[in-house]
Amino acid sequence: MSEKIDIKSMTLPELEKALTEDGLPKFRAGQVYRWLHARAVTDFSQMSDLSLSLRQQLNEKYAIYSAQAVQMQRSQLDGTVKFLYRLHDGEFVEAVFMQYHHGNSICISTQVGCKMGCTFCATGRSGFSRSLAPSEMLSQVQSAEKETGLPVSNIVLMGMGEPLDNYDAVLRFLCLVSSEQGMNIGMRHISLSTCGLVDKIYRLAEEKLQLTLSVSLHAPNDAIRSQTMPVNKKWNVESLLKACRFYAQATHRRISFEYAMIRGVNDSDACARELGQKLHGMLCHVNLIPVNDVTGAGYHKSSIERQQSFIHILQQYGITATVRRTLGSDIDASCGQLRRRYEKEAANENAM
Ligand code: SAH
Ligand code: SF4
Repeated sequence: MSEKIDIKSMTLPELEKALTEDGLPKFRAGQVYRWLHARAVTDFSQMSDLSLSLRQQLNEKYAIYSAQAVQMQRSQLDGTVKFLYRLHDGEFVEAVFMQYHHGNSICISTQVGCKMGCTFCATGRSGFSRSLAPSEMLSQVQSAEKETGLPVSNIVLMGMGEPLDNYDAVLRFLCLVSSEQGMNIGMRHISLSTCGLVDKIYRLAEEKLQLTLSVSLHAPNDAIRSQTMPVNKKWNVESLLKACRFYAQATHRRISFEYAMIRGVNDSDACARELGQKLHGMLCHVNLIPVNDVTGAGYHKSSIERQQSFIHILQQYGITATVRRTLGSDIDASCGQLRRRYEKEAANENAM
C-alpha cells in the first residue's frame, strides 16, 4: 500500500490544486483547510459539512497527523503545563504551555531529539531520531489549545531539536500557522531559537520574515563555546556574529542572544566584557538563563550577584540584558527530560 499524504502539511494553494485535479470544486479545499487548521479536527469524519463519500475519498488518500497528549504536568505555581505528545509513528516530543499577561505562549519541538549534542542539554544527550513534519508542529499547538481550553497567541520554536536543521519543514510550518484561513498567528508573535547554523541564518535573512531570531550563544569566545557546543567547531563565534549582524541589518529585527550562565565556566566579568565588546553596536538583547543542571554534567547556576554583575557590564557597552523569568520551576519545564524519563520507564517495563 502506498503511504497516505500528510494533508495538514499542505498549503491552501497546494490543496486546491490537488483537489481540483481529483475533479472536486475548488471551494472544497477551503472547507477542508479550515477544518484542519482553524478547527483542528483529527479525523475526516468530523468534517460535518462534507458528504460521507467525499470524507471517505479523502480518507483513502490522505492522513491527518495529530499529536496525542499522553502526559500533562501542571505547575501549581504559575499555570505552566508541560506536555508529552505521542506522534503517529510512536515517537514522543515535548511542548510547554505558558501563561503571560500579554497572552498564552507555547514552546514547541521541531525534531525528535537533536544532532547538535550541546553538553548542557537533555535533548542533545538523548540523540536524534527524526525531524518533524509541519503538521506535527501545528498539532502541538492545536492539542495544547484543546487540552487547556485556552488560546495560544505566541509560539517559540525552542523545544526539542534544532529548527534550522529542519529548515524546509519549519518554514512551511511558519507559513501554515500564520495563514489567515488557518491559525492566523502572526510572525511577530513567533520566535525561532538556533544554536547557530550560519548558512541557514543567511538563508533565513533573505526570507525577510518578521519573526524574532534567538541565537543560543552561551559563550563569548571559541575556547569556551567549543567546550559545550560542538556546533562551534563548524561555525565559530566570529562567523556566527557576522551572520547575526547581517540578519539584523537585513530584517531590521532585534536579535535575542540566549546565554545560559554556568558557574565558573562562562560567567566571569571578563566573559561579560568580551561579550560586550563583540556585541557592541548590534541591534540585540541578551537573555541570561540560569543553567538547569539536567544532564548530570555537574553544571551549576551562577549566583544572583554574578548575574547582576554580568548585566551591569553589558549595559556599559550599550547592550540591554535581562535574566529570564523561570516558569514552571516545580515541573522541570525545560524540554528533553520528560521524553527521556518516559522512554526509560517504558524500557524498564518492557524489560520486566
Ligand atoms: N536547538 C535550538 C532550540 C532548542 S534549545 C537552540 O539550541 O537554540 C532551547 C534553548 O534552551 C537554547 O537556548 C538552549 O541553549 C537552551 N538550553 C538547553 N539546555 C539548557 C539547560 N540545561 N539550561 C539552560 N538552557 C538550556
Ligand atoms: Fe540541540 Fe538546542 Fe539542545 Fe543544542 S541546545 S542539543 S542545539 S536542542
